[in-house]
Amino acid sequence: MKRGIYPGSFDPVTNGHVDMIERAAKIVDHLEVGVLNNRAKNPLFSVDERVSMLKEITKDMPNVSVSSFDGLLVDYMEEIGASIIVRGLRAVTDFEYELQIAQTNHRVNPNIDTLFLTTNIQYSYLSSTMVKEFASYGGDISHFVPLQFIDRIYEKYNIKK
Ligand code: ADP
Repeated sequence: MKRGIYPGSFDPVTNGHVDMIERAAKIVDHLEVGVLNNRAKNPLFSVDERVSMLKEITKDMPNVSVSSFDGLLVDYMEEIGASIIVRGLRAVTDFEYELQIAQTNHRVNPNIDTLFLTTNIQYSYLSSTMVKEFASYGGDISHFVPLQFIDRIYEKYNIKK
């Protein structure tokens, strides 16, 4: 059984993430969506909020589960028995950073491989950062995130729509 992990901040989850989850779940037997509890970043949504949004969106995907982790990804993977890291490549700008992490993780644990999926062209411009920037000014984010999360995102900026 091949267990994969799709790690990220998901602050907040975007349609690009959802597309990646759907596609990755067809490739591995079981996909764990791992929400990074990164204290260095100052997130808009708490880890619990992010996990619960991801659980909502994946509830009908039988081989997908969601959890949070802190510390090293490779350590968490050992804990849950995962050997494949799924990451998305949007543009060349993602490449150098992703290559570096993938090679480091493989060096630390040779049983771990990183699988890169190219972004669906429709979402290639989309990032959580862009969604937050747009939402903070009351911009229309309905094309960027699952519809049920739109109000929750505006609420963080005290914007009533
Ligand atoms: P991180 O903080 O680790 O970059 P993100 O939540 O921003 O976490 O992204 C998690 C993963 O999802 C990364 O591999 C990223 O490349 C990928 N990703 C982000 N946005 C998109 C998108 N629009 N389409 C496909 N993959 C994406």
